[in-house]
Amino acid sequence: MSDLGAITLPSRLKHAAAAVRMVLRTALDLALPPLCAACREPVDGKGLCPACWSKLSFITRPYCERLGIPFVYDPGPGILSMEAIADPPAYNRARAAVRFDEISRALVHALKYGDRLDLAPMMGRWIGQAGRELLVEADALVPVPLHWRRLWARRFNQSAVLAAAISADSGVPVAAAALKRVKPTAQQVGLSRPERATNVQGAFRVPEEGKTAVAGRRLVLVDDVLTSGATVDGCARALLRAGAANVDVLIFARVADPGRTSI
Ligand SMILES: [Zn+2]
Repeated sequence: MSDLGAITLPSRLKHAAAAVRMVLRTALDLALPPLCAACREPVDGKGLCPACWSKLSFITRPYCERLGIPFVYDPGPGILSMEAIADPPAYNRARAAVRFDEISRALVHALKYGDRLDLAPMMGRWIGQAGRELLVEADALVPVPLHWRRLWARRFNQSAVLAAAISADSGVPVAAAALKRVKPTAQQVGLSRPERATNVQGAFRVPEEGKTAVAGRRLVLVDDVLTSGATVDGCARALLRAGAANVDVLIFARVADPGRTSI
């Protein structure tokens, strides 16, 4: 857990407080049975109960090689979705571990708002499996940054926590200082697709101290949820402007209407 995003001195105190809470929680866990992150029933191991586990929807091929949107039928190798051709993203390829649904939403919320940092290794492992092809070519992972005000309020960046978990499995380092959110954007929830794109315009920048980690590098952005893709697209644009050689995207859960193939 060495890479928790852009850690400033005051936020270190918050991280210390979070660490203390984690220790207390661990002590408490020894006394209480762990709960399923989705339905809160007691579970034997960690994470999800068997019923919730069976409802998780992992994304596997066939999917659009560019966007990672699952296809309902196999159109053959290398076929792109209509979405990828009509509105190509700034990034090269995106992969997600699971579809965004009731169960994956519960996992994301437990990680983000419920201090269930114990879920990160499991979620990171699933993301790493979905993005194996991207990771073998990657120089570094770049978590989608939070604006410092939100980082302050939440104490940690869930994308940085997931990136650290992926890094632990894959050995690909995290470039935590590569990207900064310079504009406090409104929550994307409830915004239309064009509104989302406008909302993140100019929101991300590669700071002076991040430039060497970006120029000429093959980078993989990491985020928890992908809805319209506007956020990772904004991040990818900033990284490419700073000279990144390639930008791919790894997501835990994506909103996935079945993709329409290009033929
Ligand atoms: Zn459950």
